[in-house]
Amino acid sequence: MPSQNPVFIPGPTNIPDRLRQAMQVQTQDHRAPDFVDTFAPVLRDTRRVFATTQGQILTFPASGTGGWEAAVVNTLSPGDKVLIARYGMFSHRWIDLCQRHGLDVLVIDCDWGSGAPARRFEQALSEDKACEIRAVLVTHNETATGVRSDIAAVRAAMDAAGHPAMLFVDCVSSLASMDFQFDAWGVDIAVSGSQKGFMLATGMAILCASPKALAAMETAKLPRTYFDFRDMMAANASGGFPYTPPLQLIYGLAESLKMLFEEGLENVYARHFRLAEGVRRAVDAWGLELVAHSRDLYSDTVTAVHVPKGFDSNALTDHAFNAYGVSFGIGLGELNGQAFRIGHLGSLTDVMVLSGLATLEMAMADLDYPISLGSGVAAAQEYYRSTRAATTRAAA
Ligand SMILES: *Cc1c(COP(=O)(O)O)cnc(C)c1O
Repeated sequence: MPSQNPVFIPGPTNIPDRLRQAMQVQTQDHRAPDFVDTFAPVLRDTRRVFATTQGQILTFPASGTGGWEAAVVNTLSPGDKVLIARYGMFSHRWIDLCQRHGLDVLVIDCDWGSGAPARRFEQALSEDKACEIRAVLVTHNETATGVRSDIAAVRAAMDAAGHPAMLFVDCVSSLASMDFQFDAWGVDIAVSGSQKGFMLATGMAILCASPKALAAMETAKLPRTYFDFRDMMAANASGGFPYTPPLQLIYGLAESLKMLFEEGLENVYARHFRLAEGVRRAVDAWGLELVAHSRDLYSDTVTAVHVPKGFDSNALTDHAFNAYGVSFGIGLGELNGQAFRIGHLGSLTDVMVLSGLATLEMAMADLDYPISLGSGVAAAQEYYRSTRAATTRAAA
């Protein structure tokens, strides 16, 4: 169904007109001498979004999952121990990837709806007297549950244990939407992608690596060719690419960075908080429960909502799509059928979010949910009216 409706899935996100136009470019020779002028500024400016001066930016033609793989294969060897907590579908999938690469994965299972367990990490690291754990892997924003974890607390736990493990962070659904501090949090590799906060088409994994991670690369023995950091860095240093770069996405990223800096990263984060808070007030007015266990864990990019007992969340998301042409996120993994997700990241305004909430109300009313039409929308409207910001116009 051709549609002007925004999507409310937590990625891929709505692509603003300005970025669609920026990606609309003719083929350009990536071996021509002027390619460096296209690519080098993008690599340089991307560092600002990670809040790093030390970090090395690496991009690969891949979705975010390819970014996970790149992080792992460049820094680790078969049988290496890594520590990772499972609290949703994305942390689960990163565990699976590590296991399939033959790593020795120490898994801490947590309730879905909780966040990264800093205390339990500290305990596990303290018990690892021989310092065999090579890396701690953390999903910053667990997109399946709408939980944002406290990465600074994880770093503090690692420091408290006096452990030298590297810290890898999946920030695919948080970067460029919520505050991220690569340097201040002592992150060694951060993994993101083009199709979420950057508001672009899917197809570019965007990573940032610390000097410590780059040093680990020299002794890491997992096989890699396509994702080899060394090939990418050597080519990038002279303004090139080891194979054909995703040119349209590079142009898109250049323009996306411009948009983010024009709005100001602080304002981007504040806008996401406001949009998210309006959504949470709507959910509260409906009398429904969030999957996230407590306020400190609430994500500003995605809200996961339990449906009442006896209802099927897949029926709701299907109906919203079939009847009104609007996509919401389905419940993933153990939440399938039990929760739906409202994605509110990227190019969105108050008005767009209100339309999504209104759609959900219609769909829920059609399916006899115990909610009254307008209740959630009114709660969000009150919040948006009372906190109206300067930036109420859509990034078009
Ligand atoms: C979207 C996402 C990914 C990557 O998914 P791809 O489909 O491979 O781009 C990884 N982690 C999180 C938390 C995500 O939200």
